[in-house]
Amino acid sequence: MPTLSPIAPDLLAWFSQNARILPFRQDPTPYHIWVSEIMLQQTRVAAALEYYDRWMKALPTIRDLAECDEEKLHKLWEGLGYYSRVRNLQKAARIVCQEYGGQLPADHKKLLALPGIGDYTAGAIGSIAFHLPVPAVDGNVLRVFSRLYNDDRDIADPKTKKAYTQWVMEHQPPEAPGPYNEALMELGALVCLPNGEPLCDACPLAHLCRARQAGTQNTLPVKKAAKARRIQPVTVLLVKSEQGWLLQRRPDSGLLAGLWQPALFEEELSRQEAADRLASLGISVQLGGPLKPAKHIFSHIEWRMSGWQATAEAAPLPDGYVWADRESLAQQYTLPGAFKAYRPLLETDG
Ligand code: SF4
Repeated sequence: MPTLSPIAPDLLAWFSQNARILPFRQDPTPYHIWVSEIMLQQTRVAAALEYYDRWMKALPTIRDLAECDEEKLHKLWEGLGYYSRVRNLQKAARIVCQEYGGQLPADHKKLLALPGIGDYTAGAIGSIAFHLPVPAVDGNVLRVFSRLYNDDRDIADPKTKKAYTQWVMEHQPPEAPGPYNEALMELGALVCLPNGEPLCDACPLAHLCRARQAGTQNTLPVKKAAKARRIQPVTVLLVKSEQGWLLQRRPDSGLLAGLWQPALFEEELSRQEAADRLASLGISVQLGGPLKPAKHIFSHIEWRMSGWQATAEAAPLPDGYVWADRESLAQQYTLPGAFKAYRPLLETDG
């Protein structure tokens, strides 16, 4: 495919006029860029800003992050989901403190070797914070290039990503790798919108765009559907005593590692089976009414939850279980978004 005319001059001119003012752009230290990029994976900018602000007040340096207590760390992330991201942030921060004196290395390969930092994040930190000539290709950039080149290859295919990354680099001006990468992402976020709705009339690259010339901008990019998720039935018991709600800590590894949840069993149980399971742990309950069924979608699994409310004596609990009153639910224990459907009940009645 013939190379497109240079896009950088018009793109950068547009970016300098239209870039959103964001706190991590106003003070783009490597740590700020790193945390913001991890937060922005799977989260809208508007929603992430509040978290970002709170995080930087609580953990202003990489060393603060490395030393942060696990419960506090989870609480700072509560509601953002995909908790492996925050655990990896801390793992990487500890390595950075041990190996690099508490400062992220200005080296693409070394960044890539840190937990939770993949091609995209290493590219964003490298180019924006350290001005390295590296690509930062996210979904926005793939969409923009698919349209600029009127290319209908599947953007979920790693081969397509590799080809587009080469195009991205062909256009990257060596003197401004960071602004160029940011501008591409910003164009995708504000103008070259997903789901067949690009705002071509407002686009600084409209005169170069091959999809616009061909009238195919609404059908690109092509993305093959992901594999179907596994359906997992889950039986939940919301058990209340005088001391609060029964919470259980999840294991240290795997899905939602180390977070808290109502008593649950990752299988479909009858009323009696569910009560018997808790009794076998030494927790004797009186079952009440059914819970509203709820579901939660993880990347590869879909939880279909159902269960019952219950009451119990405030008896001593086995290891890994606690009674949590309303205050400790708000301040201490992190309940993942998977239990959002049950949260109002826990909060109003705790
Ligand atoms: S002209 Fe339209 S389709 Fe092409 S890059 Fe701009 S917004 Fe996207």
